[in-house]
Amino acid sequence: MKIVVCVKQVPDTAAKVVVQNGQVTWGDAPLVLNPWDEYAVEAALQVGGDVTVITMGEQGGNEALKHSLAMGCNNAVLVSDPALASADSQATARVLAAAIQKIGDVDLVFFGKQAIDGDGGVTAAQTARVLGWPILSSAAGIEATDGRLKVDRSMEEGRQQVEAPLPAVVSVTKDVGEPRYPSFMGIRKASRAKIPTWSLADLGIDAPRAVVAWPEVSNPPVREVVCEIITGDSPEEIANTLADKILAEKVI
Ligand SMILES: Cc1cc2nc3c(=O)[nH]c(=O)nc-3n(C[C@H](O)[C@H](O)[C@H](O)COP(=O)(O)OP(=O)(O)OC[C@H]3O[C@@H](n4cnc5c(N)ncnc54)[C@H](O)[C@@H]3O)c2cc1C
Repeated sequence: MKIVVCVKQVPDTAAKVVVQNGQVTWGDAPLVLNPWDEYAVEAALQVGGDVTVITMGEQGGNEALKHSLAMGCNNAVLVSDPALASADSQATARVLAAAIQKIGDVDLVFFGKQAIDGDGGVTAAQTARVLGWPILSSAAGIEATDGRLKVDRSMEEGRQQVEAPLPAVVSVTKDVGEPRYPSFMGIRKASRAKIPTWSLADLGIDAPRAVVAWPEVSNPPVREVVCEIITGDSPEEIANTLADKILAEKVI
C-alpha cells in the first residue's frame, strides 16, 4: 500500500496570533505540525505500508515533516516555490495533486479535518477533485483491502459506513485514535533526514492562480471588561450580593 499524508505547518496553539499592519503575525512562536494532521499521520501508520508525508510551504518549514518522520513515516517531501506565496486552498490542492502524481502509484491520501490557522476544511475535497478520486471525509475508522476502502464516518447522531474503490482521499477526525509519540529512534532518524524540496518546475506545472483574495484581516473587537470584587462579612452575604448582581444584569 502506497500512502501519502498531506500536512500543514501552523503556529503553535499557545502562540498569540494578532493582526499587525494588515498582516497576520505570531511573533517568534514556533511553527508546529497542525494538530489535526497528527491524527492523519496516525491513521496512515495504522493502515501501514510505504508512507510519504508532504507539505506545501516555505523553505525551513520542515518541523511538521520531521515530526511526522519521527512518528514513523518513511519519506518526506517539502513543496516550496516563491510563486506559491499567496496560494489559496484551490491552488494548494492543485500543487498537492501534482506532487501526489509525481510520487506515483499512490493508493491512499490522508488529510487532517482542517488546519487550525486557515480553518477552511476544504483542501482534502479540492485535492480529490483535481485527482479525480473519491473523497471519504470525517473518517473515524479506516480499512483498506483488496483495492477497496471502507470508512466509518463520525457523525453527531452516530456512525455511517462508506466504501469506495482505491485510489481514494480520506480526511480524518480525532476518532481514529490518539497520535503516537515519536520514538527516540524516530527522532534521531528524523533529525538526520535529508528532506527533498520540489519546486513548481520539478512538478512540471505553472503557478496555479489564486482565485480567492483576503483583502482585509483584523483583530476581534476589543471587549470592555469591568472587574468588581464582591466583599461581605460572610460567604452567604457575598453569594447573595453576587446572585442579585447576576439577576440585575439578566445573566440568569
Ligand atoms: C488570513 C488568511 C485567510 C485565508 N483565507 C482563505 C480563504 O478564504 N480561502 C482560501 O482558499 N484560502 C485562504 N487562505 C489560504 C489558506 O490558508 C491556504 O491556502 C492553505 O494552504 C489551505 O487552506 P486551509 O489552511 O484553510 O486548510 P484546510 O482546508 O483547513 O486544511 C485541511 C487539511 O489539508 C491539508 N493541508 C492544508 N494546507 C496544506 C499545505 N499547504 N500542505 C499540505 N497539506 C495541507 C492538511 O492536512 C489540513 O489538515 C487564507 C490564509 C490566510 C493566512
